Amino acid sequence: MGFYTNLKRVMQIFMMVFMVLAPTHAQSAPLRIVATTTQATDLIHILTNGVSDQYIHITGLMGAGVDPHLYKPTVADIEAMNQADMIVYSGLHLEGQFDAVFESVSQRGVKIHRLAQPVIDAGYVLKFDENGIATDDPHFWFDPRNWALATQALADRLADIDPIHAAIYLANAKAYIAQLDAFYAWGVEAMHQVPAELRYIVTSHDAFRYFGDAFGWTMVGIQGISTASEVGVGDIQAVVNFVIEKNIPVIFVESSVPPATIRAVQEAVISNGGRVNVGVRELYSDAMGEPDTFGGTYIGMIAANIYTLLQSYQLAGVELTIPEWNALVMPTPPDELFEIN
Ligand SMILES: [Zn+2]
Repeated sequence: MGFYTNLKRVMQIFMMVFMVLAPTHAQSAPLRIVATTTQATDLIHILTNGVSDQYIHITGLMGAGVDPHLYKPTVADIEAMNQADMIVYSGLHLEGQFDAVFESVSQRGVKIHRLAQPVIDAGYVLKFDENGIATDDPHFWFDPRNWALATQALADRLADIDPIHAAIYLANAKAYIAQLDAFYAWGVEAMHQVPAELRYIVTSHDAFRYFGDAFGWTMVGIQGISTASEVGVGDIQAVVNFVIEKNIPVIFVESSVPPATIRAVQEAVISNGGRVNVGVRELYSDAMGEPDTFGGTYIGMIAANIYTLLQSYQLAGVELTIPEWNALVMPTPPDELFEIN
């Protein structure tokens, strides 16, 4: 039993341990992440940018123009969630049809990440009145300051779950939050070009309360917070009266809600001797645009809404100048956004 025998034994043990550890590291399975809404999917892609596909698989469930209040998970969605390591969802009952699935997969150990959590923790959730009960408004992402909170919290969670790539997630979050801050400053300047007495967003459902809060406008919705509720004749008449009384020049159609109610308001205003335009484009509400388009990104979606609002006001005769886009903010608005027919 000499020194070399002992050394050999130590080497053998070392090799055994190495053999056990090495293959797991080399073949480590990718982190499977499922995101519900288009906004959630966009954020996951931004934060994981630079991490190889070998380590991350991302599945986005809802497509462009989909209404998340009403979306029911398909068989394939449920399968994807069952096999996921992590599910990223918006929360505050936006994904109203997902509660049962979340409950069952979380019992299997799937990590469920609610993007709204830091907004809830900070006390920034807006309430609305639903039959006399104060209810949480789920559309928190429409305030870029809330989205910055959600970005940081998601990056922290990813760093925790996948420490090998923590530096990438945190650096991506830092860069993106800087973009959100610069974009928000541009948006505030732009939205304040409209005279204070005309800063009303009249549209079919109450998705824009946070957006209004963020940019100093007031939201007037016909349908209430969730698209699941019915529109009453009284709701339409109240909005018609409001539009006439406040001399509001434009009302807007949303991308994920049928335009019929907004057209009904316009007709009623006109038949009451008033005048009101419908916006030059639809507003993005609960779903983003097609992938690989400007409106198919979070910043692009909000920016497109700002351009749509301001251009519509210009066309209705309100004098204003839209400030130059901040060149540091990506993506850059496409030329089509400045062509109005
Ligand atoms: Zn909504």
